[in-house]
Amino acid sequence: MLNLATTLADTARREPSKTAVIEGNRRLTFGEVDAAANSVASYLLERGLSSGDRVALTIPNVVEFPIVYFGILKAGGVVVPLNTMLKRDEVAYHLRDSGAKAYFCTGHGPEPDAWRGFQDVDSCEQLVTISATSPGLGVGTNLADVLVDHPTEDILHPTEATDTAVVLYTSGTTGKPKGAELTHANMVLNAVVHNNLFDARPDDVHLVTLPLFHSFGQTVQMNAGFARGITLVLLPKFHAASALELIARHRVTIFAGVPTMYWALLTESAEAGNDVDLAGLLRIAVSGGAAMPVDVLKRFNAVFGIGITEGYGLSETSPTVTFNPLERPNRPGSIGMPIWGIEVRLIDEQWNEVRAGERGELVVRGHNVMKGYLGRPEATAEVLRDGWFRTGDIATRDEDGYYYIVDRAKDLIVRGGFNIYPRELEEMIITHPDVSLVAVVGVPDDRIGEEVKAFVIREPGSTLTDEELIAWCRERLAVYKCPRLVEFRDALPMNATGKVLKRELR
Ligand code: AMP
Repeated sequence: MLNLATTLADTARREPSKTAVIEGNRRLTFGEVDAAANSVASYLLERGLSSGDRVALTIPNVVEFPIVYFGILKAGGVVVPLNTMLKRDEVAYHLRDSGAKAYFCTGHGPEPDAWRGFQDVDSCEQLVTISATSPGLGVGTNLADVLVDHPTEDILHPTEATDTAVVLYTSGTTGKPKGAELTHANMVLNAVVHNNLFDARPDDVHLVTLPLFHSFGQTVQMNAGFARGITLVLLPKFHAASALELIARHRVTIFAGVPTMYWALLTESAEAGNDVDLAGLLRIAVSGGAAMPVDVLKRFNAVFGIGITEGYGLSETSPTVTFNPLERPNRPGSIGMPIWGIEVRLIDEQWNEVRAGERGELVVRGHNVMKGYLGRPEATAEVLRDGWFRTGDIATRDEDGYYYIVDRAKDLIVRGGFNIYPRELEEMIITHPDVSLVAVVGVPDDRIGEEVKAFVIREPGSTLTDEELIAWCRERLAVYKCPRLVEFRDALPMNATGKVLKRELR
């Protein structure tokens, strides 16, 4: 038996009164988080949750996130964390696709969308809202009442290591969002490996500004932190000045972020002056989720006197695949080496390994690889073969065994660390009555890595403007996905089979 919730339960038994999470003025010990998670589990069991039932949540980085997350796991449920920026139809899609039986959402962020999305899905029966300001109040149950009304005695459903613990939505290599099924073993092992990689110490403090619904913050900071008994300082929305202030106030030792966060910290310090002694406080600064520009890495080192360690991973791999070893000199531009227990190969289109120095698609095998995409055997078969997972990322390896991401085989835009799948946008934009054909690509951007650009052929006689189309998208899609740039064309470059040549558009 292995349950991801033991990361919390064991630590709560060992160190019940140590501070587990700090968020604004709120502070909870490991014992308090564990007790509250038991109440959530008790509530779910009382409402008839069966082992393996999915429970979705839309919660930003607030103390309720770990309470609900571990509560679902303790009851034997499967957690489906959703991106907090999703719009109504997107929420409904995820609830339907995951077959969620219950849904926890907050009054923070886009709650009306979360609440309205829930109303559209009959199969999702329970709603628990998390703040008094929630418009769902009166219809759903309030989490505060659940915590008061339910016992806090230990609950831990005996799940197996190979049972699904979490379903993380990602579009995989192409198309509509799919749920990557990650097991208890996937999630526990990837979390505890980070404590080794970071040489984690009991007096470490994590600043968690990466969204907890995404695997990077969830595994690398939350689950690793809970497993080791490390205090987490939660920042619900990244803001460079607040991040610097929290690092100083709580004596943060571990910061993890996507490259744009490092870029923002640099900009903030250039504009407002830097009086936070980051080098004196931080032991480790980790970057992942998108390629870290070597220039940002060098400037960060020059300004703050601290190196950034880059890792690489995906939702489907829990997430971490490679990491730069802390004990060796940092290799700028490299994603490092495979972490403990994980094999990496670079292959050509026939699955033959390429020779040293050549480019190949990075494939991974090991304890971190998902079971598959929930309810999608065909999509799973496309990416999994004999335990090897195809990442869709093209890499090279140097003579010392360090890997470098050099390209992408999959149609993906990484905007400020968020993945955007052009196909999902194209399928939405083409439904606009004035749009005849559309192709979405990522174009380079100094600040956020890539910006979303739509090339559109309008219907004859249409006077649709770029502003109108962008506004139309913003009503229907999470803001981070919406194109910021639109170019109208009379024709798009195509190959012989009629496929739009995106490389040329880029
Ligand atoms: P996600 O599933 O959201 O974690 O996104 C995974 C994708 O982000 C990978 O397939 C890569 O394309 C990209 N990615 C993650 N880390 C890095 C990195 N260090 N360098 C370049 N690309 C990265």
